[in-house]
Amino acid sequence: MNDDELRDEVRKWLAANWNPAIDRASWAQRVVDAGWAVPSWEPEWYGRGLSEARSRLVAAEFAAAGAPGCGHDRANLFACTLHDVGTEEQKRRLIPPSIRGESKWCLLYSEPSAGSDLAGLRTKAERRGDQWVINGQKVWTSFAKTADYGMLVARTDWDVPKHQGISFFMLPMRQPGVEIRPIHQITGESEFNEVFIQDARIPAENLVGELNAGWSVLQIALGYERRFMGDLARTAKDGRRPRPANASLLIELARDAGKLDDPYIRQQIARVDALATVNRWNTQRSKAAADHGEAAALTALGKIAMSRILHETARVETEIVGAEAMLAGPENPVGDAVTFRTMNAYFTSIGGGTDQIQRNIIGERVLGLPKEPEPHRNTPFRDLPR
Ligand SMILES: Cc1cc2nc3c(=O)[nH]c(=O)nc-3n(C[C@H](O)[C@H](O)[C@H](O)COP(=O)(O)OP(=O)(O)OC[C@H]3O[C@@H](n4cnc5c(N)ncnc54)[C@H](O)[C@@H]3O)c2cc1C
Repeated sequence: MNDDELRDEVRKWLAANWNPAIDRASWAQRVVDAGWAVPSWEPEWYGRGLSEARSRLVAAEFAAAGAPGCGHDRANLFACTLHDVGTEEQKRRLIPPSIRGESKWCLLYSEPSAGSDLAGLRTKAERRGDQWVINGQKVWTSFAKTADYGMLVARTDWDVPKHQGISFFMLPMRQPGVEIRPIHQITGESEFNEVFIQDARIPAENLVGELNAGWSVLQIALGYERRFMGDLARTAKDGRRPRPANASLLIELARDAGKLDDPYIRQQIARVDALATVNRWNTQRSKAAADHGEAAALTALGKIAMSRILHETARVETEIVGAEAMLAGPENPVGDAVTFRTMNAYFTSIGGGTDQIQRNIIGERVLGLPKEPEPHRNTPFRDLPR
């Protein structure tokens, strides 16, 4: 089947099945049953065995029809991680509700003193009978309030070097030992939270990957997150201010402001467009790379490129709208959107690993520069200076 035939098949399927009035649950089930929720996965795992590029074609057709439910093979970090490293039982139990959109997830990685140096985490998991008991604190946890599961990294061995004593779990969030406190963000939103965990329980069957091998599971989950962030610009929660990662929004804004003929503005828009174009090529390269190390380095490039594109876009928008960019609120919709995007650009330069950390990865893995010194590489975590 060629691309046109695939597009045709998806269009016909959508025409026969999609109806905006359909209830969400039956629609999600229909999409999953047809293999469109995760088109690039194997048929035995809810997919259609399509290539990455073709999976995107399917997602584009769904988006054009305004139909939700496709693209979990790119954006659903919970399902993608389980797909790659979960047991057969975990995949059967946890993936279907997730790709039907019935169960939501969040990322319980960062702690007050473990962000860039995530391997320094101190949240503790102790085995008691057929459960794990969790104690500790996480921070900056996006969407914790609506999550059914937290993808949790916790320390399970204190007597080995820091990367070697971490395990990866799917923590049921809706239980008494999990307390969530929202954090107020500069954008006015409140998406991320502090999460206090006291004697919370995880069934033993929710350990993902081997015990104490959670660092490698985390690398897989982070790889998906960085790729996703490098791939897509974020849309504001209310959906009113979509931000395509290309120059079309800037061109429109410049036209509205009567500045489309201004040579300086035109040059700035062209720069943003060039950055976005190069980033698209890099993203394609990272998807084509068979080697895991090379793919991870290219993903770091994509993420840092998207961070730069978002900051640059916001800067050029500010130049176009001028003083109006100082205004916010519903009575100044243009200024409000520009202000939002200027502040929100930091989302991509911090979340999922900061720009500086991505540069370290590029330095070490792409440019072959010497690694950062690690004086405590072989020291048991328990003996590390704090
Ligand atoms: C919008 C948003 C959403 C987030 N969502 C989540 C989430 O859902 N779940 C979650 O677990 N976390 C989440 N985070 C947290 C994010 O992953 C961390 O903020 C990030 O990893 C940085 O950690 P930190 O804040 O502790 O900063 P630190 O690690 O303390 O870093 C402070 C500064 O020092 C620099 N730095 C640190 N180490 C180095 C080094 N070795 N070389 C060079 N520079 C260095 C950093 O780049 C940064 O500029 C989110 C963050 C944001 C902004």
